[in-house]
Amino acid sequence: MRYSLREELPGLWFLDLKVGGEEQYIGSYIIASGNEVALVEVGPSSTALNVIHALDEIGFHPTDVKYLLPTHVHLDHAGASGTLLKHFPNASVIAHKRGVVHLADPEATLWKASKAVLGFVADIYGKPEPVPNEKIIPVEDKMSLTLGKLTFEIIPTPGHASHHVCFFLNPGKVVFTGDAVGAYLPSLDITLPQTPPPFRLEATLKSIETLISLEPRIGAYTHFGISPEAKRNFKNHYNQLLIWYECVTEALNKGIPKDSILNVISERDSDLKRFLTNSKKLTGLKRGVEVSLKGFIELAMTEKMRT
Ligand SMILES: [Zn+2]
Repeated sequence: MRYSLREELPGLWFLDLKVGGEEQYIGSYIIASGNEVALVEVGPSSTALNVIHALDEIGFHPTDVKYLLPTHVHLDHAGASGTLLKHFPNASVIAHKRGVVHLADPEATLWKASKAVLGFVADIYGKPEPVPNEKIIPVEDKMSLTLGKLTFEIIPTPGHASHHVCFFLNPGKVVFTGDAVGAYLPSLDITLPQTPPPFRLEATLKSIETLISLEPRIGAYTHFGISPEAKRNFKNHYNQLLIWYECVTEALNKGIPKDSILNVISERDSDLKRFLTNSKKLTGLKRGVEVSLKGFIELAMTEKMRT
């Protein structure tokens, strides 16, 4: 099977896109109310067909899709948008104002920047097709969308990316987290940072505070799956980021080699420790952790230079 699909709540399916054949790495959520459908996260362009087949498997028609809701324009979240919009004639895609240009013209900077940061992984994700401007709904401040009887609130959550947004679904108090509160692995009940360079710690912490203030119940993570204890996870992740920041700053001051820093952090971050001892098959997330460390190292080094 090229993907796997599970109905997590009535009318809400979680799709493991199995990007590059890897399980528990990148997911997409399908939400339906009446005969209207939205996709939160669409995955990279290389697995666009998996999304189309999954919708067909559930029994939806391409004309039912009203919204594509990627949390930000990074290839693993929004890369399939242009391809999917050709198949879903009634759909529009949401993007923060600062992300619009990247959806409309991925060739200009997004693709080159992705190749530079991700290397061969960008090719596994595939090059995104451009999105026609008239299919993009730009957002800047908090706003809401209706889907059948449901309401999605769009919450700007800068940090991981300056144009990152989360979606808050009521009823249900579900937060679709994107990369705003890291990754969550239900099988190990752990959170992990998603902090590639350029990482903005202060903005991220503020965004997590905003999400906690919503009193969320369910966290719907792109990487990877559903948490029934969103608020607890968000708080845990907030502290985890502070621990990583302290450990990385200390390690750099002591001259500890970069390839030993994850082990140093794992002495204080029990979630990371559990991940490192169980990560053999989770190569996608392992790469993510290494890139996240880079984000912290660059941040700490920039701050050091300033003082
Ligand atoms: Zn991202």
